Amino acid sequence: MTGNAATVLAGPPAATAVIAAAARQAATLERPPHLVIVRVGDDPASVSYVRGKAKKAGESGLRSTVHALPETTPSADLLALVASLNADPDVHGILVQLPLPPHIAEEPVLAAIDPDKDVDGLHPMNIGRLWSGRPTLAPCTPAGVMALLEHYGVPVAGRRAVIVGRSQLVGRPLAGLLLAADATVTVAHSRTRDLGAVTREADILVAAVGRAHLITPDMVKPAAVVIDVGINRVVGDDGKAHLTGDVHPDVAAVASALTPVPGGVGPMTVAQLMANTVQAARRQQSQTSGV
Ligand code: NDP
Repeated sequence: MTGNAATVLAGPPAATAVIAAAARQAATLERPPHLVIVRVGDDPASVSYVRGKAKKAGESGLRSTVHALPETTPSADLLALVASLNADPDVHGILVQLPLPPHIAEEPVLAAIDPDKDVDGLHPMNIGRLWSGRPTLAPCTPAGVMALLEHYGVPVAGRRAVIVGRSQLVGRPLAGLLLAADATVTVAHSRTRDLGAVTREADILVAAVGRAHLITPDMVKPAAVVIDVGINRVVGDDGKAHLTGDVHPDVAAVASALTPVPGGVGPMTVAQLMANTVQAARRQQSQTSGV
């Protein structure tokens, strides 16, 4: 590696700040925000994610309830549960853990969640609000990226942002958030020609692809801020599996700042879920109290 090493934009301190702010706001509410997580089936990654989210909710002064439904749950039963959670004034945030088993179509389930309780920000109404420049409940990973940039004082307005990846969960909503924050945004994807020429334009480069070390030093403009959303399981020289990002480690010699993997964007995603739940609870409780 050559040159100066980039500043490490560590996720945990930024996530702690987001959670502390959410906890302070939660403490001012009449009733603690209540997050309900629905999991269908026993996919090991989903089980672990849901456990982590519920644990973090408890640490943040939130109530949480997990509904673990069997893999064979019919769509109609899941939709009925969502309807009952929508109608329950004691529930402020609803998260249906994805992916759902193959026999359940995700879209109708996400669209059935009350948009005001949609703490994952995936309801079409919330996607529309985001793209109209008035984000309310935004998806947690992209909102977490924005919170990370803010925490570390990275200016966004007027800068060129390039996002590699256009998924519904990360790339697209992040483009909407960066646009709402006055960046000039380009979204690249698997059909983009000469990806390096596009990424070299970026003052802020975000990799959200799922390909280990796709972004190499020659693809990065000197002094760019690089955000690595990717999580890839690879086998190292030691023969052991470990996690790595979409950004090659040598990019640290070119970038001015870089998020590590693990320990970068990952902790921000869970923190943002807490912030979204508190935000949803505040809106609902102020509506019912007529404030
Ligand atoms: P998806 O697989 O849904 O999307 C990947 C995107 O990358 C697609 O838009 C695809 O293009 C694009 N792509 C694939 N190959 C290339 C390539 N060679 N060059 C340019 N673009 C390419 O993934 P997600 O958005 O869900 O996740 C992306 C990564 O982020 C994964 O590693 C995932 O594990 C991680 N992740 C991390 C989170 C965190 O909390 N840190 C949360 C969520 C995800 P096309 O649309 O043309 O197919």
